[in-house]
Amino acid sequence: MNASPLALLGGEPLISTAGPHFSWPPITEQDRAAVARQLTEAVSIPDRSGVVADLEDALTSCLGVRHVITTCTGTAALHSMYAACGIGPGDEVIVPALTFHATATPLFHLGARPVLADVDEHGQLDLDDAAHRLTARTKAVIAVHLWGLPEDMDALTGFADRHGLLLLEDGSHAHGATWNGKPVGSFGAASAFSLNGPKPLSAGEGGFVATDDTDLYYQVLLHGQYNKRCRSEIPAAHPLARFAVTGMGLKLRIHPLAAALALAQLPRLEGYLKGRQAIAERMLAALEQVPGIGVPQIAAGARPSWYGLPLRYDPAALGGLPPARFLDAVHAEGATATDRPGSTCPLNTHPLFQRPGALLPGYADHQGPGERDFPVAGQVHAGTVKLPVWHRDRDQPLADAYTAALAKVARHHKDLLP
Ligand SMILES: *Cc1c(COP(=O)(O)O)cnc(C)c1O
Repeated sequence: MNASPLALLGGEPLISTAGPHFSWPPITEQDRAAVARQLTEAVSIPDRSGVVADLEDALTSCLGVRHVITTCTGTAALHSMYAACGIGPGDEVIVPALTFHATATPLFHLGARPVLADVDEHGQLDLDDAAHRLTARTKAVIAVHLWGLPEDMDALTGFADRHGLLLLEDGSHAHGATWNGKPVGSFGAASAFSLNGPKPLSAGEGGFVATDDTDLYYQVLLHGQYNKRCRSEIPAAHPLARFAVTGMGLKLRIHPLAAALALAQLPRLEGYLKGRQAIAERMLAALEQVPGIGVPQIAAGARPSWYGLPLRYDPAALGGLPPARFLDAVHAEGATATDRPGSTCPLNTHPLFQRPGALLPGYADHQGPGERDFPVAGQVHAGTVKLPVWHRDRDQPLADAYTAALAKVARHHKDLLP
């Protein structure tokens, strides 16, 4: 007879509400009406007009930048941004080893090389490691505000300036996040964002590039837009205007129905973030004292978007209990939306990064990094346990139940040890 209160060992689960416990984005009547209206207005927009112009104008003013160009995906936005910066064959870009692969993969399609740099114990780019990886071919460094926690943009701006690099940003987790009051995505020469389903601002599918630099803007247009949009936006006297009909030949524009959804969501983003901040603070306060659980340290100038709440699980504090077993026990308590990041992992572990030449011509001689080359990224990833951050007051009890589930498993961890 097992007397453990842990649900995994036959005890009563803490949470009995049926899942899924978290879904995104919240869809309201306004969203339905906006998409329905767009269906009658236009389902294809070849220039910068209608909902596309409205969304780009709104994003421009949110970020405080001159130009925003929407795209069909965040991956396409990253591709256009790199191409617009003139990054091409042989060029190198410093990318944090721990991110979603699309931060780096478009570089392979430009003949360029992602040069991975390790992260620090907080999962942020390690600038000392990055400095060791600079060569004469390094053109840019990209900041990724992982899980919506802003990078130290003072340090990154200084690093880029000191080494004569372009500073770029992947803001895909961090819509509305700020560093010293300035929006993430407005620090670099350009930034790229995803508007994919679960991202803080969602179009279902979509993305955008933001920049203050008008010539870079024309290059972004030429990369993924063509004819009407390029002809109407690139001044006839500009040396690039003669390429307007074809651009660079790719077509990466956003779907108007997706743009309508993102535009309807955008006025609610600030409310989402405020609600998430309140719930995140509650969760952090509850988890701070839980043994085996490390909470993220938020820098004084940082306002996160709380795309997720990344915790660091430390098995040593719980008698060596493996993270997978800890997570099984948390799931058994009913906290089923707790997870370990899957595809957002050390990029050096992906076969594509180890041997890009196996799939991509031009990389036959490219010796990629090895499985264990980025020890800190590996440790951070192996120890990360992620919780959703809800935004509505009425989800507070659920958030409390999740933190209680982690605390319960930690408290009774000895029951799970062999
Ligand atoms: C989602 C994401 C992307 C890619 O965006 P898609 O819209 O899915 O193409 C790129 N970078 C990061 C960090 C992401 O999370």
